[in-house]
Amino acid sequence: MFFKNNSKRSFWIKILHNELSTLDVLVTRRPDLYANFKKYTLCLEEEENRLHLFSCSKLTNIIEEIWKTTMEYFKKEILLLYQDHNKKEDKDFQSQNLLKEINNTLDYLKLTIFNTYNSLLNFTLGLFNKDLTKKIITFLPKNCTSTTKIRDLLTRTSNHFRNLFRSKVWNFRCESINEADHTRGLTKKIKKNKPPINTNLNKLTNSNNTKSTNDNTSNKKENNIKPIKFIESEIYDWIKYDRKWLNTP
Ligand SMILES: [Zn+2]
Repeated sequence: MFFKNNSKRSFWIKILHNELSTLDVLVTRRPDLYANFKKYTLCLEEEENRLHLFSCSKLTNIIEEIWKTTMEYFKKEILLLYQDHNKKEDKDFQSQNLLKEINNTLDYLKLTIFNTYNSLLNFTLGLFNKDLTKKIITFLPKNCTSTTKIRDLLTRTSNHFRNLFRSKVWNFRCESINEADHTRGLTKKIKKNKPPINTNLNKLTNSNNTKSTNDNTSNKKENNIKPIKFIESEIYDWIKYDRKWLNTP
């Protein structure tokens, strides 16, 4: 796949390998920061993962809008392919029949790609069933274009959709997570620091918390993200006064 732009390529690779920093991924990387922060910020109903960015009801309108724009692109490109292929042909045919055929193609694409959220994800990744190309050819008038050109157009259409998805859904989502992190006191520095080792962290929290057995509510608060500064300063003290804790089993 050809990319003019590095960040677009990087987005494609990340979404393909499920390496986007969605909250389900973040929680495995930094459970200390994200264990209690798994829900998608826009709906606050379901946990955020790659597929949820396609299935969330709060995103339906945006995704519809992106699809519409993408299909306008597809339609324009099909017409160009047709014109290219039939320079000497009767132009009346184009206006009367071709638009109808193209609209049938668009309906078919929508039905197939929006059949499941997984098929929508696959389309975004640029992965489609081989039959899709053949099927599209059957909708179009004979000699309209070639299979190779349609396959190439599908790839370009997928890129078009993914780029819009990146700017309208993903970048917007990143802004709201950054805002939420900021509110929770998660600075860039904290996020860049290496995560603490869990077992040692638990030992420390328990030994220092004399009320732990009696006071469940304060315990719950302790487990939330807010006291991260407290945890950070404890780790700093360990390192400053006794580095050996890192080596204890
Ligand atoms: Zn949702």
